[in-house]
Amino acid sequence: MDKKELAELLALEDFEPIYQKADEVRRKTKGDIVDIRAIIEYSNICVRRCRYCGLNSDNKNASRYKMTEDEILDTARQAAEAGYKTIVLQSGEAPVFKIQELGEIVRRIKDMGPAVTVSCGELSYEELRYLKECGADRYLLKHETADPKLYAELHPCGTLKERVTCLRTISGLGYETGSGFMIGLPGQSLMTIADDLLLLKELNCQMAGIGPFIPHPDTPLKDEKRGSTELTKRAVALARLLLPEANLPVTTALGVINKQEKESAFACGANVIMKKVTPDPYRAAYEIYPAQLEKCDIEGDRKRLEEQIQALGRIPV
Ligand code: SF4
Repeated sequence: MDKKELAELLALEDFEPIYQKADEVRRKTKGDIVDIRAIIEYSNICVRRCRYCGLNSDNKNASRYKMTEDEILDTARQAAEAGYKTIVLQSGEAPVFKIQELGEIVRRIKDMGPAVTVSCGELSYEELRYLKECGADRYLLKHETADPKLYAELHPCGTLKERVTCLRTISGLGYETGSGFMIGLPGQSLMTIADDLLLLKELNCQMAGIGPFIPHPDTPLKDEKRGSTELTKRAVALARLLLPEANLPVTTALGVINKQEKESAFACGANVIMKKVTPDPYRAAYEIYPAQLEKCDIEGDRKRLEEQIQALGRIPV
């Protein structure tokens, strides 16, 4: 599929046949398994100023935190005991730990059994290689938009070229590589989304997180409209067709908008769900976009999610 075809598909009046095709491909490549992954948001400190994000360093209303090494490991242990097989270590972009300290955290979580995904922004080749040597399995770095002009408007602290170079480094080091983008960014068109999808394909991403833009009240984009859930699901379905083997999460942002939407998102090609296990009081402070959060209950949350997935006829893992 080329850019024009993708944009035309995104605009279809009746998208149902594409959803069905994406679901068929998902069943063939991934079966009925839904991977549940635990996210530990270990710090919300960030040096960047992305204009859509509540964690941007200009936001003086954000209360900043960094979990201690013991808190991270204790949370990871609880998640592993609750049945999680992947721990995602996520943070804003800031060197809150020395790379050796972060490597040690990765190593110790790996010793507990789960796979480790790291998502803490752009790192140097040496840092990425070090974390890989410590056992990190996957690295997640969303490109957010494949339009270089829009990227520059939204990201005063970096360029699309640097982002893509970092993604290529991640892939070259043998990580399972994840990228992704937002739907509904101001200034985005269907052609931009088509470019976003083609970039995932070009990078041969093995994971892709596609979520709606949700305006945060403490950002310059606070008065913009939120992204469409329907268009988000359409983009997930097309990502499944372009990357049949990829791990495609139902993004947490989609779940924020509407619980039912999250369920129907599983019918458009997604096979992964991310669940926050960040302990209180930190979880409320990790606010990229506003969300209603329940109190942390790692074991109970996991059980409830397993039941929801089983109710959809799928197998939680
Ligand atoms: S999107 Fe990431 S890098 Fe940008 S401000 Fe938010 S946390 Fe920082």
